[in-house]
Amino acid sequence: MAVQRTFSIIKPDATRRNLTGAINAKIEAAGLRIIAQKRIHMTAAQAGHFYAVHKARPFYGELCAFMASEPVVVQVLEGEEAIAKYREVMGATDPAEAAAGTIRKDFALSKGENSVHGSDAPETAAEEIAYFFAGLELVG
Ligand code: ADP
Ligand code: MG
Repeated sequence: MAVQRTFSIIKPDATRRNLTGAINAKIEAAGLRIIAQKRIHMTAAQAGHFYAVHKARPFYGELCAFMASEPVVVQVLEGEEAIAKYREVMGATDPAEAAAGTIRKDFALSKGENSVHGSDAPETAAEEIAYFFAGLELVG
């Protein structure tokens, strides 16, 4: 077991419905510590850069427009095996396939508007954290 950091976004469908606190409660109940957090409104270009890995997918344009449509809350989470643990807390991409009690099962509206993002590997976690946060903002 190793302490890791992962990057999280509470997406526009969730911030719009005032679900930031409810989502944070699930994160903290799972033993993950929110060591940095801020509310931002991404430009379409910033959303496009963040999701560049999905550029070739048919939903890319829709996804970038959605992520830039309203404010989001970006976060850094820390804990034992934080990357895999947060993916578990999030649930499957499609809420119809997400396990009971997960964020996406309880809150997501659709496969696209699915309430949260979480990094999928140590390399992407490090890149995503560095894109949104300066080292000084990670307060432990
Ligand atoms: P995850 O967020 O679970 O890691 P992916 O990395 O596969 O999922 O996709 C990134 C995001 O793109 C998803 O969270 C979702 O918002 C959106 N997305 C994925 N697949 C679809 C789809 N088939 N239709 C619309 N949006 C999608
Ligand atoms: Mg992903």
